[in-house]
Amino acid sequence: MPNKKRNIFFFGNGKAEGNASMRDLLGGKGAGLHEMTRIGIPVPPGFTISTAVCGYYDSHSHHYSKGIEGEVAQALARVEKILDRRFGAADNPLLVSVRSGARESMPGMMDTVLNLGLNDRTVQGLIQRTKNPRFAFDSYRRFIHMYADVVLGIKSASKTNGDPLAAILERKKNARGARFDTDLDAADLEDLVGEYKAEIKKTLGQDFPEDPMDQLWRAIGAVFGSWNNDRAIAYRELYQIPHNWGTAVNVQAMVFGNLGDDCATGVAFTRDPATGHKRFYGEFLVNAQGEDVVAGIRTPRPIAELCQTLPKAASDLQKVCKVLEKHYREMQDIEFTIEKGKLWMLQTRAAKRTGFAAVRIAVDMVEERIINKKEALLRIEPDQLNQLLRPVFDQKGKEKAHLLGKGLPAGPGAASGRVVFDAEDAVEWKKRGERVVLCRIETSPDDIRGMDAAQGILTARGGMTSHAALVARQMGKVCVAGCEGLHVDYASRTLRVDQAQLKEGEWISIDGSTGEVFQGEIQTLPSEVLRVLLTRSLNPKESRIYRQFAKLMTWADEVRTLGVRTNADQPDQAAIGKAFGSEGIGLCRTEHMFFQGERIQAVREMILADDEVGRRRALAKLLPMQKEDFKGILEIMGTLPVTIRTLDPPLHEFLPKHDSEIVELAQVMGVAVEVLRDKVNVLHEFNPMLGHRGCRLGISFPEITEMQAQAIFEAACELRREGKNPFPEVMIPLVGSLPELHEQKAIVERIAHATQKSYGVKVRYLIGTMIELPRACMVADEIAEEAEFFSFGTNDLTQTCLGLSRDDAGKFLPSYVLNGILPEDPFVSIDRDGVGALMRIAITKGRKTRKKLEIGICGEHGGDPKSVAYCHDIGLDYVSCSPYRVAIARLAAAQAALRKKI
Ligand code: PEP
Ligand code: MG
Repeated sequence: MPNKKRNIFFFGNGKAEGNASMRDLLGGKGAGLHEMTRIGIPVPPGFTISTAVCGYYDSHSHHYSKGIEGEVAQALARVEKILDRRFGAADNPLLVSVRSGARESMPGMMDTVLNLGLNDRTVQGLIQRTKNPRFAFDSYRRFIHMYADVVLGIKSASKTNGDPLAAILERKKNARGARFDTDLDAADLEDLVGEYKAEIKKTLGQDFPEDPMDQLWRAIGAVFGSWNNDRAIAYRELYQIPHNWGTAVNVQAMVFGNLGDDCATGVAFTRDPATGHKRFYGEFLVNAQGEDVVAGIRTPRPIAELCQTLPKAASDLQKVCKVLEKHYREMQDIEFTIEKGKLWMLQTRAAKRTGFAAVRIAVDMVEERIINKKEALLRIEPDQLNQLLRPVFDQKGKEKAHLLGKGLPAGPGAASGRVVFDAEDAVEWKKRGERVVLCRIETSPDDIRGMDAAQGILTARGGMTSHAALVARQMGKVCVAGCEGLHVDYASRTLRVDQAQLKEGEWISIDGSTGEVFQGEIQTLPSEVLRVLLTRSLNPKESRIYRQFAKLMTWADEVRTLGVRTNADQPDQAAIGKAFGSEGIGLCRTEHMFFQGERIQAVREMILADDEVGRRRALAKLLPMQKEDFKGILEIMGTLPVTIRTLDPPLHEFLPKHDSEIVELAQVMGVAVEVLRDKVNVLHEFNPMLGHRGCRLGISFPEITEMQAQAIFEAACELRREGKNPFPEVMIPLVGSLPELHEQKAIVERIAHATQKSYGVKVRYLIGTMIELPRACMVADEIAEEAEFFSFGTNDLTQTCLGLSRDDAGKFLPSYVLNGILPEDPFVSIDRDGVGALMRIAITKGRKTRKKLEIGICGEHGGDPKSVAYCHDIGLDYVSCSPYRVAIARLAAAQAALRKKI
């Protein structure tokens, strides 16, 4: 049983003080190292300094709690004992790595120092032990380089604004005619050590620290400090990782992949992280150290070739990966080093994957009996399903386009955009409304915001596990990495492949599923899932991803209790929602039907009419249009409920804005332009969102509600006559009191009866209300006397509960979220403490009056997975979201049901 107060956790020689369940304290990397050690996998010994120490260090001006130094010394002594080496000894020295490792992986965002413990004396010890001066000086120059960057901050101190040590290395390579650093010999590397030290002295005015213990403590401090570097903060903001989690630090004995040609280092996945295909997948470099693979310095070789290069280690690696996948019952992402033919594992963790891979792996693992259906459902981020709906390039367009080159298919999907060369430009251009493809020699953690802004990412160097590939997959971005023959020239802002040259701003297209790169823009086609579901242009048998997606959705439906409807204003939207599995329409905003063509004129006429006669004239024009739309939607949805809301037009969205529009409308209405202009001015509201909208309009002008009810019931009655069984639910918006609902309901009831009578049919229907004002929540018991259902309009409820304009909040809300004043945007995810509390009151009160009151939500939150979970927890009957989010909501609802049971 681990001691909770312990700061340092040792692992080595088959024993570990931590385990896989201790991610919060040991970080993901630490927990993996401890667990691997426990289950007998070869892991170099070491120890983890917990995330709690990071918290203390952060909040105590970079000081440690008492006793830590002693604990570190003790743990280090245990490592020395296992390996029979001494840290800092001239003879047989122990070298260590110092690596970060947070609870959630943050690839490349924080710092690492390798080969620590080297100085002018210990390097001689290393030569003696290995009889390999080239290796010893290679390790030494790497150590100085990393340390100078991470711990001493040489890059920011340098006047050249770059990495002065990298420049020295480049110069050395050029002078020696070396293509790669592996082409440099021992003497070159020894020279580099001297040159690096001189540069450090010149730039920083200090000598490189020789005392290994001093090196170690400064490195530990730097790694803790890197939790708060700009890129780590940006990453946490992007992925909503709390700033107070902190990182752990793993200090571990070095094993060397750069000791010669019987050594290697690599990364691998137990399945393909882009497609989910079950094949051992990864990359390695011979005679290299770990960071060479991820940094894209040399393009690594596919793991399949390891079997020829180092067959024994390759077969050990495959065995270890099988053990790990079986042990964790999850696809693993691993790092390994082979030293003189012996395999050492340096990391294992659940692998990040694309949405495609997530679905395939989850379904495959159920079929392989590794996990059950429930676990499969819980393994997929609902939002990842969006990737399955992304477009692909039109085949004909692709055939016609000029193929520039081919790289690795690192992030599936199709992206066209204008070429930009740096991350800041990507962000800027996106702000201007441009689509861009970020083209880099390789990406680094500093590019994260630009990668987020771009449609896709193209790199000249790096493999499937390079930074660009890893991060793109995680973001769900299209990515082609390591495109051979691509030359990117930042200075002239051009890229070149063979004879073709593209300048900044020109169009480029990349196919992240095949790795192809094309000149120009290429048209896209809907995804396979959409082609099966919507256009039926693809047979489900021909699409594996569709079949697996469909299977997953069936499993989700088996466990979820929350209904999922869609918001649809037109028949085509209703059809899309239904194809995605919607069980009804949760909101049909009738005013949205008026935005197109001549309809807007009729609405304006209605709003601006002087009297009831004029209004009725305009309404008569609208009636057939509305009826036709309602009929279309009701017909598509069959017997499923269709919630149609009576008119709720914020007036400012409908009034004519330009003079030309006023002139045109005056002609149609047969009134003087001046008269109409005055009328528009009179109707102007200072706060239109809190103005004459919703049921208030229907109360002022009952004929508007009458016309709508008539359109709904005529449509339903006609379908009834055709032998169909439609189910309209008429919903009254912006109700704040029972009398408002009472009045509007009476109108709808009257028209419903009269219409049914005149058609001689009976229609199933309900009349209910939106709950979107705080007052409605507080008097929900009274409102439920008349309302046969409630639907939470959380857009307006958020606006009115927080006193935050839904149209203007974007101006300052992001800074609120960034500064932690609000945990997240309340218009995206339900504000549980405020809006959620009102919802709970309304549910309790509503159901007190009407026990079986049907309650749903139709605000935008209905498609947000976290809000869906909340709606499940507080007992809603259904959520309603935009058509393309229906599958996401189904999965989120299933997860909510499963999590509640657990
Ligand atoms: C709401 O307010 O949440 C809602 C669904 O209505 P609208 O967005 O149309 O105001
Ligand atoms: Mg509303």
